[in-house]
Amino acid sequence: MINRAYLQCIIPSCGATYDVGQAITECGACGNLLDVAYEHVVPSSFKGTFLGRRNPGNNIFNESGVHRFRESANFTGTDSGKYGEYSKVLVSLDGLEGNTKPVNVTAVARYVGMDPKTLYLQFEGRNPSGSFKDNGMATAFTHGKMVGAETYACASTGNTSASAAQYAANEGKRAFVIVGQDASPTKVAQALYHGAVVFKLEGPFDKAMGLIKKVADEKGVYLVNSVNPFRLEGQKTIIYRMLESLKWNPPDWIVLPFGNGGNTAAFGKALKELYDWGWIKKMPRIAVVNARGANTFYHLYHERGLKWNGGAANDVMIQDYYSRLHKNRVRPRTKASAVAILKPENMKKALRTMEWTNGVAAQVSDIEIMKALGVIGRNGFGAEIASAAAVAGIKQLVEQGIIGRDETVVGVMTGDWWKESKEIMAHEERKGLITVPPNIDVIYRKFDEALRAA
Ligand SMILES: *Cc1c(COP(=O)(O)O)cnc(C)c1O
Ligand SMILES: [Zn+2]
Repeated sequence: MINRAYLQCIIPSCGATYDVGQAITECGACGNLLDVAYEHVVPSSFKGTFLGRRNPGNNIFNESGVHRFRESANFTGTDSGKYGEYSKVLVSLDGLEGNTKPVNVTAVARYVGMDPKTLYLQFEGRNPSGSFKDNGMATAFTHGKMVGAETYACASTGNTSASAAQYAANEGKRAFVIVGQDASPTKVAQALYHGAVVFKLEGPFDKAMGLIKKVADEKGVYLVNSVNPFRLEGQKTIIYRMLESLKWNPPDWIVLPFGNGGNTAAFGKALKELYDWGWIKKMPRIAVVNARGANTFYHLYHERGLKWNGGAANDVMIQDYYSRLHKNRVRPRTKASAVAILKPENMKKALRTMEWTNGVAAQVSDIEIMKALGVIGRNGFGAEIASAAAVAGIKQLVEQGIIGRDETVVGVMTGDWWKESKEIMAHEERKGLITVPPNIDVIYRKFDEALRAA
């Protein structure tokens, strides 16, 4: 199947289109973000094709949980039926990305007050670089290869740079990243380890983002932040795997942490396309969760009533809010470093998702986040601090009666726990670490005490 693709401005009243052979991230006419759009719908017979590829038979692009859905994001102009040709244009970490699915989490369900059968978490931290970003890098680097990019760049709170560095290394290309000052050392280590040139900014992520856009323009490097519409095409597969696992019966809710709004944008686009293609009959509702110390989206959407409004969102309200942040020198204040972002790049695409899905926005404190994080660990799974915001958000929305206790909910865990092992150690040490001398009697005694306490 060949599906001709083009870039289109997200603002319907502008509607400008561009060739997919260009590496651009905004509309030349109005400055807004772009979507990858397709001429044809993907017929629902592909449900079977996609599922069948889970038996990959030596094909890394079937193993890849991103590329096994390749017909739904074929912007390459290549016939997906001709595997020999198609395999030359795709980029994958040898099939490792995107092998996730929603799983039941009994202890977490109890914690949030829900039926354990209808609460799922999807651990996107189980991607090669340890975060969901790999879903998007697989398609961003595919597009990069298509346009002949040699150097890849991003600004990052940490995970984007780790992922970009790993894909660049595997492709034999160069990566150039700017991380904000709050990036976790593990994530910075990943970027360095995979050979990226790492600039550590003496400033927050939002500054880094502004700077990298200038560098990308000036130096002609390929930008892999979530303003890149081809990256978001790969992140749509988080939704495909979720729905496939639920036999294409959409859950009532999908809950995720909100940083730059890239996933929120990609999830909305995935769901809208599936709805338009006739694959699903109902749109799930999306709930996005801000950390209280970086709650721009919650504030503007929930408190100030900012809406997508068919593409006529109130730009003045957004700009006024940003200037006030700047004037008052407001800095993000949260332990959830992956979402410590005050100027979400995908603001408008996220607003559009909220309109398409009748979405809600919540905010949670760091204390609520750290409690939720502990419960996930005690359930035998792992997530990084920012991801736990989604669990804290589910708990809050259930308590407020917005999410029903027996509704079907999937929480997306965006990164893995080891990303911030130092912070987790600091948090858990007080609760669980028992220091002992090399003396067997003391160890017997402590052993019995611990058993009694458990
Ligand atoms: C990047 C990231 C986020 C934020 O995602 P957006 O798509 O920018 O909203 C959340 N959690 C983790 C672990 C991340 O790496
Ligand atoms: Zn435009």
